[in-house]
Amino acid sequence: MGEQTHEMTRRSFLNAIGVGGTALAGASVLGLPGFNKLFAQAIAEVPVLWVHAGSCTGCSVSALNSLSPTIQDLLLGEVIPGKHVSLAFHPTVMAGQGHDVIQVLQDYKKKDPGSFVLVVEGALSTKDHGVYCEVGEIKGKPITMMQHVRELAPKAMAVVNIGTCSSYGGIPGAPPNPTGIMPVSDFLKQEGIKTPVVNVPGCPPHPDWFVGTIATVLIGGLEALAVDQHGRPLAFFGGLIHDNCPFRGQFDKGMFAQHLGEKKCLYKLGCKGPATSADCPHRRWNSGTNWCIGSGSPCIGCVEPDFPYENSMYDLVHIHEATPPDNYPPIVSQQGNGIAVTTTGALGVAVGAVAGAGIAASRAKKNGSPAPAAGKEGNDGDTSA
Ligand code: SF4
Ligand code: SF4
Repeated sequence: MGEQTHEMTRRSFLNAIGVGGTALAGASVLGLPGFNKLFAQAIAEVPVLWVHAGSCTGCSVSALNSLSPTIQDLLLGEVIPGKHVSLAFHPTVMAGQGHDVIQVLQDYKKKDPGSFVLVVEGALSTKDHGVYCEVGEIKGKPITMMQHVRELAPKAMAVVNIGTCSSYGGIPGAPPNPTGIMPVSDFLKQEGIKTPVVNVPGCPPHPDWFVGTIATVLIGGLEALAVDQHGRPLAFFGGLIHDNCPFRGQFDKGMFAQHLGEKKCLYKLGCKGPATSADCPHRRWNSGTNWCIGSGSPCIGCVEPDFPYENSMYDLVHIHEATPPDNYPPIVSQQGNGIAVTTTGALGVAVGAVAGAGIAASRAKKNGSPAPAAGKEGNDGDTSA
């Protein structure tokens, strides 16, 4: 048998991520053989403008930690002879400054629709005509970020929101929200701008979430990207943390940590895993080193629209469907005309339901609607206790 090659052709790569066929769902393009090369070829042809609104720049810092492809490959590598990645604007890493770089933004505002990807980091300040977030001047007149987005977004093929702030408001939108912070998608809707929007939330987002998302858009177009009801790519946000958490078995048995430092399920310490969709249990952070729950901290739900101020960090999330994942033995079985509990999972169910009931009631009262569903999704992970 000859030596086996793992290189993919461009065609097989596009087929693998679903372009022209099945949409990408539940799989990351990052692990595909030949990804780096094909990604590089594709990205070389599409300029990316990355603007900062109300943010801490943590999302940029996180993205700079991308490993595959490395940020050097992404930004500096000669991806095909004579061509480089076309990151046309990024306030943190670009070498230029002053009028020249602002002119880059102005020039892109005159391009044909669909000629670049607009990445927005941070939420938009809209009160008082956006005066609380100004970036650059033209002829001595400051330009608000609201204005930049209003003029750039219609010319973009897609707007990719990096981080929870641009996706949902996040920390800059905390009550009483004195600067009128808006999620970018709400602002575009208000302005009647129909450019597709993809949300890559997280405080900050994992670098893979951003790189994988933008690579998919650039290579396959938006049709290659399957998203959930909050506009998040299913490849990264398709399953509940709770369903893939190594402490899930303890939850089902009703074994809860009472204080930080105990190696038990952190539900009673405010863990938002049952209402948070992300692949952190599998992907882990800092090159796969660890993740929040793995290091003893409850998940604070940093990728969800209600992060961080709608509920206290210590509130218990409501458990809508506190049954074990599908790959667990059943917790109930028919006995004659009744139903009998067959595993200890019922204890966790009962405890969780009682503990969450008060929160559910107060949240429903506050919002006038039910709390976010925490249904069973993506049971394909490590669920061992
Ligand atoms: S409540 Fe939190 S710590 Fe407990 S199983 Fe669910 S995600 Fe894991
Ligand atoms: S475990 Fe929760 S808080 Fe931590 S990064 Fe993932 S979604 Fe955010």
